[in-house]
Amino acid sequence: MNKAKLSIKHAIEMMTRNHGELIDLYKEVNQPINIITDDQAEIIHALAHDTRCAGSGGSGWDQVDHGESKSTSHVQSRECKDCSVRVKVMFFLGECPECGSHNLKKNPRDGRWGINAKTHFEHREELKEYRLLLIEPVEDIPSCREFRIRYWALDKNSEHLNSYALGQRDSSNKSDHINFQPLKKDFYLSRPALRFDGVLKIGNGKSEMNFTFFDVNNETAITMPPEFANLKSEEVIAEKKFNKERGIVVRS
Ligand SMILES: [Zn+2]
Repeated sequence: MNKAKLSIKHAIEMMTRNHGELIDLYKEVNQPINIITDDQAEIIHALAHDTRCAGSGGSGWDQVDHGESKSTSHVQSRECKDCSVRVKVMFFLGECPECGSHNLKKNPRDGRWGINAKTHFEHREELKEYRLLLIEPVEDIPSCREFRIRYWALDKNSEHLNSYALGQRDSSNKSDHINFQPLKKDFYLSRPALRFDGVLKIGNGKSEMNFTFFDVNNETAITMPPEFANLKSEEVIAEKKFNKERGIVVRS
């Protein structure tokens, strides 16, 4: 096993070793739990590229090699359909702790990575790549203790990402924030490259991470799933309606 693979396996297993017990504690008080935290995602990406974390200073990148980490989780809370006020029930509970109902909405699986469109263009020269981590339950059931963890790299010169970021930056709605959703249109059109894929199993006082794919140097974009095969970048961008106010020129 290569060095990066071994060190990431070891790190993830160490980070999640006590998750069995922790999940029980979090369940008791209905607190959502991060299987992998954002700073741990940065560690994983640093280990993947044999580099270091660059600290949380305002101007720097997450890794010393100018990689920028983004992490999101689809281990999410569901809303209770029977509570009159909005109650979110954490993933590992099967019933609402407030009213006892089992009538819960399904796992939304809408966790996303935030990319700042303005920063993207201001510092694109120095940026190496975006490093995207996604943690998903293998099954959307409260007893699930297996989680798929994937890392993709997103090229800073991705044409679709650049069009999206440009539209967002130049829009009139003030926000430079791109909500980049895993496994959806914009994701596939941006042509990310898979770096690793594996399953984490959480047991009592131990956990086990096994990879099904591992190549931290992979630059080949993932294949477009059939349902997205006919998508065109220009059309997807045009649908976004960025509320552009520019281009209206009044001549007197
Ligand atoms: Zn309820």
